[in-house]
Amino acid sequence: MTFAALGLIEPLQRTLDELDYKIPTPVQAAAIPAVLAGRDLMAAAQTGTGKTAGFALPLLQRLMLEGPVVASNSVRALVLVPTRELAEQVHESFRTYGQHLPLSTFAAYGGVSINPQMMKLRKGVDVLVATPGRLLDLFRQKALKFSQLQTLVLDEADRMLDLGFADELRSIYAALPKKRQTLLFSATFSDAIRVLAEQMLDNPLTIEVSPRNVTASNVKQCVITVDKKRKTELFCHLLKKHSWSHALVFVKTRKGVDELTELLQKQGLNVDGIHGDKPQATRQRALDRFKAREVQILFATDVAARGLDIDDLPLVVNFDLPIVAEDYVHRIGRTGRAGNSGQAISLVCADEVNLLAAIEVLSGQSLKRVEEADFIPEHRVPLIDATGQVLKKSKKPKKPKVVGGGGKKNLGKWLESNEPAEPQVKIVRKIPVFNTGPKKKK
Ligand code: AMP
Repeated sequence: MTFAALGLIEPLQRTLDELDYKIPTPVQAAAIPAVLAGRDLMAAAQTGTGKTAGFALPLLQRLMLEGPVVASNSVRALVLVPTRELAEQVHESFRTYGQHLPLSTFAAYGGVSINPQMMKLRKGVDVLVATPGRLLDLFRQKALKFSQLQTLVLDEADRMLDLGFADELRSIYAALPKKRQTLLFSATFSDAIRVLAEQMLDNPLTIEVSPRNVTASNVKQCVITVDKKRKTELFCHLLKKHSWSHALVFVKTRKGVDELTELLQKQGLNVDGIHGDKPQATRQRALDRFKAREVQILFATDVAARGLDIDDLPLVVNFDLPIVAEDYVHRIGRTGRAGNSGQAISLVCADEVNLLAAIEVLSGQSLKRVEEADFIPEHRVPLIDATGQVLKKSKKPKKPKVVGGGGKKNLGKWLESNEPAEPQVKIVRKIPVFNTGPKKKK
């Protein structure tokens, strides 16, 4: 299958040639013809599958070929995203893919002054990428009209719900013209997402390019068990021992991000941190520098977990496990993208066993446990069975394990080995499938 066979117009083909995109990814092959034909879409696609081009290319083409010239304060295609960073990234993708087309694009999000955004919208824009809260502010201040809206895209829809945007989405939905195309993209589908889809989509084509809620198969994952109070020490030890050159490290709290960043900066390391309390410009600068490899380690709360595209990121570390198991899938989806292999290492203490169990059940696999000599925990992380039940209570070890010996593996050996990333134990569990045909028209 080639892009030419999908019926894309010459300026888009030219861009794809320049970007050296030779063949469409599975989500692109399925989504592009459907979107061009004007259908609604509900797509479950893993991160890094090329989903942005999957909706941006056909959307740009429809804007070129159909509909009126954009009027003042109007928007013809609206892309809703959960975070400011994702808004910038998706907007950048639209600019890239639409570089040979005379269409205007803009990104609007909170955390920065609204006035320049209102000024920009006066002339109207063909494609607006926005976070839900700021979009509503702009609409309520009459800086935006939706009468020309042709297409609505909900990107990372499940994340928008996780972040508490359900009310905003309902208000936006009420303000949109009833006759429009709607595309819903989500890495994972929850029941709440299905309810949203029932409300917003009209007879959608359902696409599922990989099993739902399964972690990227080319990411090699492991858990290193450690006592809570020694996590920082273990992290510093691993960083030094394996000379990690480029890693995204997820930390539960904003305070935790700041403390780790400060600690390592004091040691002269090139690290930075991002979280929701930092001004948008600071967050974006840290992210840009990390992408450009000017920053070696980036500490982040889950604000950075979704949708960010970082080329060739070799390693994701979960300094803390996420509270919501689905965030694990998104976190580790930052590595192993576009066919590259990656590693995901989670530092897990006994307190986190229930979070670990939820992740193992969600992803249908038992994560490989690895021990690091000198860091064998006093409070053991209990074992978990295939149904997610915690099997044993924490016990002190009788004697420390020898490096590389015993049933559990030593991290150094595991990292060097060529073992496949496949899960050790497959949990037999029925995974609901969504591609069961058209949905009811509402
Ligand atoms: P996304 O899942 O949309 O974030 O895309 C992940 C990465 O894949 C981005 O860096 C894209 O530039 C790249 N990409 C998307 N589609 C293709 C394609 N057909 N061929 C090669 N690279 C692609």
